[in-house]
Amino acid sequence: MSKQAELDQIKADIINNNVCPNLVDTATQLVFGDGDANADLVFIGEAPGKKEDEQGLPFVGASGKFLSEMLESIHLSRSQVYITNIVKYRPPANRDPEVEEKKAFLPYLLRQLDVIKPKLVICLGRHSGMQFLPDLKISQDHGHPKKISLKLGDREIKVVVLPLYHPAAALYNGGQRQTLMNDFALIPEILTKITTN
Ligand code: URA
Repeated sequence: MSKQAELDQIKADIINNNVCPNLVDTATQLVFGDGDANADLVFIGEAPGKKEDEQGLPFVGASGKFLSEMLESIHLSRSQVYITNIVKYRPPANRDPEVEEKKAFLPYLLRQLDVIKPKLVICLGRHSGMQFLPDLKISQDHGHPKKISLKLGDREIKVVVLPLYHPAAALYNGGQRQTLMNDFALIPEILTKITTN
């Protein structure tokens, strides 16, 4: 089975297993993920917002535009990376996802990572980063890659996680915006180091 077909299966499983029925009721549609199933880089945000809910695609609103610009700054397009969220339905009125909601979607997110096998997992924002690095202090740890093991049933996979500020927060905070852009500029070198290690 191709990687894309495996991803399609995970998407079907989320729908068939009726994950977070409360969010299904209020959201327009599932926002599963977008991009290259063979990507070296996977970006993980928090949850879809209004635009994402309307279009069924992650990061297509204002923060998505900023993300695309930062990708261009390191000579990448959206189609060369894979973009998804922890929680895959829009929470009502864009409230923060609840712990139980993040927990419910985690197995599907881990399966996405197991299929794609990216070299680097980039967590956008504190909520996303804390799924992988529970002790994360985003103001200290942003821009510092960390190798971790993830449990997948009785298997373990190793991934390198890079926590970054969330583009939505950075858009409206000049200091964070510059920090996020500086951290983004480190991505090519971090990738090269992972490849040659
Ligand atoms: N913010 C996120 O965390 N994810 C999106 O898809 C859009 C905005």
